[in-house]
Amino acid sequence: MSTFTDLGLQQPILDALLDLGYVKPSVIQEKAIPQIISSTTDLKAFAQTGTGKTAAFSLPIIELADLTNMNTQAIILSPTRELAVQIGKNIEDFSKYIPNLKTVTVYGGANIDEQIRKLKKGAHIVIGTPGRTVDLINRRALKLGNIKWVVLDEADEMLNMGFKEDLDKVLEATPNDKQTLLFSATFPREVEEIARNYMKNPVEVTSGEKNTGSNNVSHEYYLVNEKTRYPALRRIADVNPDIYAIVFCRTRRETQQVADNLIRDGYNADSLHGDLSQAQRDSVMEKFRKKTVQILVATDVAARGIDVTDLTHVINHKLPDQIENYNHRSGRTGRAGSKGISIVLVNRKEKGRLHSIERIIKQKFVATKIPTGKEICEKQLFHLIDKIKNTEINTSQIESFLPSVYEKFEHLSREELIQKFVSSQFNSFLSFYENTSDLNDLSSKENSRGRASSENMTRFFINIGRKDRLNPAKLIGLINDQNIGDKIEIGAIDILDTFSFFEIDKSFEDSTLEAFKVNEPEFGGRFVNIEITKSERGGGNRGGRKRGKKSFGSKNEGGFGRRRSSEKQNSRGRRSGSGFKNNQDSGGFGRKRKRITKK
Ligand code: ADP
Ligand code: MG
Repeated sequence: MSTFTDLGLQQPILDALLDLGYVKPSVIQEKAIPQIISSTTDLKAFAQTGTGKTAAFSLPIIELADLTNMNTQAIILSPTRELAVQIGKNIEDFSKYIPNLKTVTVYGGANIDEQIRKLKKGAHIVIGTPGRTVDLINRRALKLGNIKWVVLDEADEMLNMGFKEDLDKVLEATPNDKQTLLFSATFPREVEEIARNYMKNPVEVTSGEKNTGSNNVSHEYYLVNEKTRYPALRRIADVNPDIYAIVFCRTRRETQQVADNLIRDGYNADSLHGDLSQAQRDSVMEKFRKKTVQILVATDVAARGIDVTDLTHVINHKLPDQIENYNHRSGRTGRAGSKGISIVLVNRKEKGRLHSIERIIKQKFVATKIPTGKEICEKQLFHLIDKIKNTEINTSQIESFLPSVYEKFEHLSREELIQKFVSSQFNSFLSFYENTSDLNDLSSKENSRGRASSENMTRFFINIGRKDRLNPAKLIGLINDQNIGDKIEIGAIDILDTFSFFEIDKSFEDSTLEAFKVNEPEFGGRFVNIEITKSERGGGNRGGRKRGKKSFGSKNEGGFGRRRSSEKQNSRGRRSGSGFKNNQDSGGFGRKRKRITKK
């Protein structure tokens, strides 16, 4: 087993690697680095995703770069802007003790004049997307006449994305005696063709078997139909309170839709796809890296090559059109030695495709059941309890409040206090999942048609509940008191702690709303407020859910995290679809929300 020193790297690089926590080289680094340092022969390198290919091509270039002149000596091409930026950052990290080494990253969607200015100052290494690189060559801002190394990272994807012409142009601008380095995780025919067209007698190095997936990733599939696909995704997120995942979609539209739904339902989610501006994409990636966004919904292309460590899950909302892409998706997790889970949601028809993927990844998919409401509640509850147990007490900050807080709780026993605390944090989560169906039973009426009784009924939210001593009989009495109509039909009633739901015959929807508005009824001394709840496809939406989810924030949110996440979403103006947003002054649910968001 060699060390980075054995590979022939200079001390400043070794120091930087130490800072980054790179202790020993990965297999592909062990093979590629000395090869590039000692030889000018072209190189094809294949290794699974997450095995450190970036360092494998960057370190030898940093080692060999001639800092006595300012010529551009290496051009590294990457299929996406995000990946280019990431490689640029990696190279800066690797060369932090070599201050004279200059790198510039260029990509579309960002100000070209600024990039030209930076290039004018001189760049030993340029990282770029093919389109922008060609643009800069045409404007004579980027001169490749002294290039010693061309790196094609994620070569297969560049071809998929139709960059062949751009690649031709870039390579034409480089001298003949350069060294071309091709790095890829998969090895389709097209890549072989690039090698044939662009490379001279290349040496090939591989780590592991080509095209096989990482062994650190386990693969699971969940059987769904179109009604249960999204609810299943939510349950997977809910049963993994610390989830940090990319959800892959096939199209931009699907991506936006899934992300919008997750955001609406209170998750720390965001989307990454080609319709976003560069600034938007940068900001999403930044938030995802910092884990303020826990779930990134992305297209294959947008997420290509992105290295975010510690992803817990990769979720295939739909399988990719080309099954080779499955490997790229699942390779986003289980990186650098950590474990990850790749999940596929498939319907009966799609399930057949799993076999072809199994042949590629040489691993079996494990059939997994969608968690039940009970399982989720249990998981969330204990997650919450553990979090409290592990919360550090910051005495100095809370000290002055404690005497009056103790006084308020004086009459409560320890057990009562715990019970109240758990209920306050947990009730809405429980109420969301109570009575929900088993999503694994695809033949059930509910899973195939949405909520059984909702077709001709409108579901109303009402801001009073058990705490106000409401029960079904009293609720029916209250509704009847509004004189909405003789023939009014009242459907299902759900009485919860601080709010409730009831169903009314659709034809009375408007008159019910109107009656409550005009009559301004009171109940137990409180103004009563009703609103129509939005019905949701698939698993039963119990309305009060939004508050529930936020009680269980991501691990990096301080305390209960609720404030941070809801503020964030409010400030982005994207938390749409809440059926309760006008409720701020109505007490109960509304009042709570107000307190949460205002602080
Ligand atoms: P690939 O391009 O092969 O998909 P990356 O170059 O993006 O993989 O590296 C994957 C992750 O592994 C990165 O977070 C990187 O910092 C880390 N890494 C790479 N090489 C090493 C090493 N020798 N020791 C520890 N971590 C490493
Ligand atoms: Mg890579």
